Amino acid sequence: MASFRAFSLSETMVNALAKQGYVSPSPVQTNVIPKVLRGKSVLVQSATGSGKTHAFLIPLIEKTDVNLPRLQSIIIAPTRELARQTYEFAKGFERFYPKLKIRLFTSEAEVAQNEEGLTKAPHMIIGTPGRLKDLLVDRHPLNLSNVRAVVLDEADMLLDLGYFTDIEALFAADMSNPQILVFSATLKQNLKDELRHLVAADFHFEAEDTETSFSVRHHMVDIKHDDPKASLVAFLKIRRPYLAIVFASKKETVDATYKHLLGNGIEAIYFTGSLNDRARKKALRDIKANKISVIVASDLLARGMDIPDVTDVISLDLPNDLEFYYHRAGRTGRFDKDGDSWVFYDDDSARLPLALVNEKRATFDYYTLRGNILKEDPVGLAAKKKLTKKKAFASEEEKKEVKIAKANTRSDKVKPGYKKKQKAAIERVKNKSRRKAIQRSVRRELEEQYRKKAREENDE
Ligand code: AMP
Repeated sequence: MASFRAFSLSETMVNALAKQGYVSPSPVQTNVIPKVLRGKSVLVQSATGSGKTHAFLIPLIEKTDVNLPRLQSIIIAPTRELARQTYEFAKGFERFYPKLKIRLFTSEAEVAQNEEGLTKAPHMIIGTPGRLKDLLVDRHPLNLSNVRAVVLDEADMLLDLGYFTDIEALFAADMSNPQILVFSATLKQNLKDELRHLVAADFHFEAEDTETSFSVRHHMVDIKHDDPKASLVAFLKIRRPYLAIVFASKKETVDATYKHLLGNGIEAIYFTGSLNDRARKKALRDIKANKISVIVASDLLARGMDIPDVTDVISLDLPNDLEFYYHRAGRTGRFDKDGDSWVFYDDDSARLPLALVNEKRATFDYYTLRGNILKEDPVGLAAKKKLTKKKAFASEEEKKEVKIAKANTRSDKVKPGYKKKQKAAIERVKNKSRRKAIQRSVRRELEEQYRKKAREENDE
């Protein structure tokens, strides 16, 4: 079995890892740690659950000069929950490095409070883009010339949420050519283009296989036109999961499902980006103490959050951007455990399940749930065929844009390659429209989170 010793890490680090229960490196760690130690900038495609946070924390902490009272690394995450999670992982090292100072900067705390935390320069700062720009660029209380590494965690989400302007401002500050470590669930061309704008560094492209890094069994459950909330209650009673996360795309469905579970005597918690810090900590404590076996959540939670020991992920519907399905499924099967991901559908809601099955990035098996009976569908392929027959439909907006794309690519004379070009143009329009829909829903949720915070502040 591979060992962390193979990276020639210090005794302090090897000991810190062993005491935290990290015995052998994960594939992404084996790949990335040596490169970061050698000072390389990297762009890594890796799913959460693959051990990617430690792939950057281990070499960055190893390289920190704790005797130099200067900021040496900045870790940027798209949401405060993700930033806090990374902060908590990083804090795990503090008892082995008594001089190491790590600070968390997000909107969880007041700016003034953050500034107090900077009277003595920390070695490592973890935070969200807006707050980091506000502090480090606009207020500028620290000398950034010793920053040797910047991490962009969940970079595709940073880009989708429009945070690259804040990040650009950080790079334009007085940092002198830091090493850039980019971690992203997807490596789309627009991300690569934006990164090239951002830094001239010579990126080392790494492709981790997002699917094989977690072991999830995927299932489609035909709920036969029952109310998904009622089906969920029946399903939970049959399956009795150790810890399940239930996802729905719309906030209203998340709210209604949570209430329905409580109304049916099922202890559940509602986990969204808008939970305040105290409620979030309590929720995590309750999960750890086995008081809770069901979490109801929106897609914001699907990105990156590490909730240990999730055995089942249930999708009451599918997100328009199917990429988010894989993020949802990735909440289980984390690290070296396995898990199950269940998608509820019926004939009327078969468009996205069909698209997901046809993507063939995951292999599904089939079940039916009727009343209190969950049965494997012996004619799984027939079920798939039935799905295939289902007419695909798109949103009105998407239909309109596809029509325009068709008109724009149509030509009176049939030129060679015309069909292919038209297909590509239509595909681009569809992808853009799906992406827009998911961006809108994530943004709505973030905005709501900020509005809630503002309301709380006004009430105080
Ligand atoms: P991440 O992909 O960073 O979200 O990490 C997923 C989970 O894997 C976290 O709970 C980590 O504590 C855990 N983890 C990371 N590296 C290792 C390792 N080498 N051995 C065991 N667990 C690990």
